[in-house]
Formats: sequence, C-alpha cells, structure tokens
Amino acid sequence: MKIAVIGAGTMGNGIAQVAATNGHQVILKEIEAAALERGMASIRKSLSKIVSKRDDIEDKQAFEHEVLERLHPTTDWEPLSEAEFAVEAVFESYQIKKEVLEKLDQVCPQDIVLSSNTSSISITRLGSILKRPERFIGMHFMNPVPLMKLVEIIRGLATSDDTYQKTRDLSEQLEKIPVEVNDSPGFVSNRVLMPMINEAIFAYQEGVAEVENIDAVMKLGMNHPMGPLKLADLIGLDVCLDVLNVLYDGFKDPRYRPCALLQRMVDAGWLGRKTGRGFYQY
Ligand code: NAD
Repeated sequence: MKIAVIGAGTMGNGIAQVAATNGHQVILKEIEAAALERGMASIRKSLSKIVSKRDDIEDKQAFEHEVLERLHPTTDWEPLSEAEFAVEAVFESYQIKKEVLEKLDQVCPQDIVLSSNTSSISITRLGSILKRPERFIGMHFMNPVPLMKLVEIIRGLATSDDTYQKTRDLSEQLEKIPVEVNDSPGFVSNRVLMPMINEAIFAYQEGVAEVENIDAVMKLGMNHPMGPLKLADLIGLDVCLDVLNVLYDGFKDPRYRPCALLQRMVDAGWLGRKTGRGFYQY
C-alpha cells in the first residue's frame, strides 16, 4: 500500500519506519527540509538498532537498504495524490491539524482513509473539517512506535465501518494490536496517563520528593517500566501540556489543570529528551 505520513517528528518518523519495515511505500511529508532530515536520521538509527537484534534477517544490510528505499521524504504535497492511506502526525494543535487536513482533502484521492495520530483532540471535530468525515478516524500509535504494540483506534461520530475495518487491518499488518475506543477527550490512554504524569510534576513542584525518587516509587512500587517524569520527557513536555489543556477544556474539570511547573518548563524550551533537557538531562 502507499501510505502518507505527515510530520516526521517523534511519532511520524516511527510510524513511517514501521510502515516501510512491513513492506509499504511511504511518502513522508514535512514542512521543512531540516525536520525531514532529522526524521530520516532517527529512522536510520532506530532501524539499524532493531535490525541488529533480529535473528530472522540473513542479510541485514540489504534489509535495511530495502526499507530505506521504500521511504520517500518530501516537502511537497503533490506526491500525496497517490496515497491510499494517510496518517497525520503534526503538532498537537487543532489549528495546525485543520490546515493539514484541508490540504489532504484537496490533494488525496477520494477513497483514501485519512487518520490522525492526535493524542487528545476530538476525532469527530477533526473529521468535520473534511468533505468525507466517514473516511476519517483516529489511529493513535504509542511512543516509541517501533517497540510499542498498542494502536488505540478512535471512531468519530461519522466514521464508517469500512474505514474502521481498513484501519484495523492495517494496524494488524503493521504488527500492532488495535484497541477500539470511542471519541472522548484524551480517549482512554491519555485520560488515564496524563493526570498521573501531572500529579507526579505537582509532587516534584511541592518538594515531596526528588525526580529520581518519584520515578523510583512508581517503577519499584507499581511495576511501571518507566517512571512518570522520565515518561513525560520521552513523550515531550509540550505534548503533555497540550494534552492536559485538551482534557481541561474538554471536561471543564479543574482536576486536569496543568501544573505550573510544566508550563514553565515548556516556556523555557525544556521539552524533554528531544531538546536534551527536561526533568532529566540527555
Ligand atoms: P513532534 O513535535 O516531534 O513532531 C511534529 C512534526 O510535525 C514536526 O517535525 C513538524 O515540523 C511537523 N509539522 C508541523 N506542521 C506541519 C505541516 N503543516 N506539514 C508537515 N509537517 C508538519 O511531535 P510528535 O511527538 O511526533 O507528535 C505528533 C502527533 O502525535 C501529535 O498530535 C501528538 O499529540 C501525537 N502523539 C505524540 C506522542 C508522543 O509520545 N510524543 C504519542 C502519541 C501521539
């Protein structure tokens, strides 16, 4: 299949890598060449690490070469006119996603399935931007995409059964496990995860414990593979803030208010692993 991935950041480059590894031709669309190059560099690094651990591949170099050949990076919209399935993975902003979806509606074929990797924005609301909202769905991959099994599939009010089935089939073909949920702020994953991360930041802000100790409690005591503050750094503190704001606006409930320290760290440009500094230094 020809799959378009829009945005080559943390999630977009992971989705593109997984799709190309599973035999699909991938058009990777970015807004600027430098971001595209960063995305491709991440893919090369991650692919090589994963392939080096796979015993089922005889000629590892040839395999990597074939995967990379299936990736078609571009800053133009025109190549997307041939796509059969699209995954949008640009910034978590309704306005930016709206512009991207309007453009996809213009350039992509009529029968394409358009999906969004949004962490929290309403699929029904995003779908209403399109001429064919029945072809729109949420396809929420987890970070890091090449390693995480879950894809949360979110049906908007207008999403058709055909669109749902095609998205489910593709998820399975990408060796993921799809789980169906309905449209609601933060879906299931972030509605449960983000308040926990936010509470960990409040605990740190209030001096309850040091960063390492908050993470140690959750790792050793709750059997989490990674502490909440380290996870926040991995997700990106800007993404966490955006998602909390969507939950806060969506439910009008103060329990989702983002911690002031999170806001300050984002203002400082300390966004976690991707900028080299968050709750930890990288
Ligand atoms: P990111 O900041 O790492 O990457 C976003 C990319 O989109 C950037 O490279 C940017 O240049 C590009 N972009 C912006 N506008 C564009 C446009 N008009 N056309 C093409 N590219 C454009 O963000 P991310 O963490 O990859 O998040 C992307 C989406 O995935 C968001 O909706 C986010 O909520 C969601 N998500 C993130 C995570 C996570 O852990 N980071 C997990 C699940 C879902």
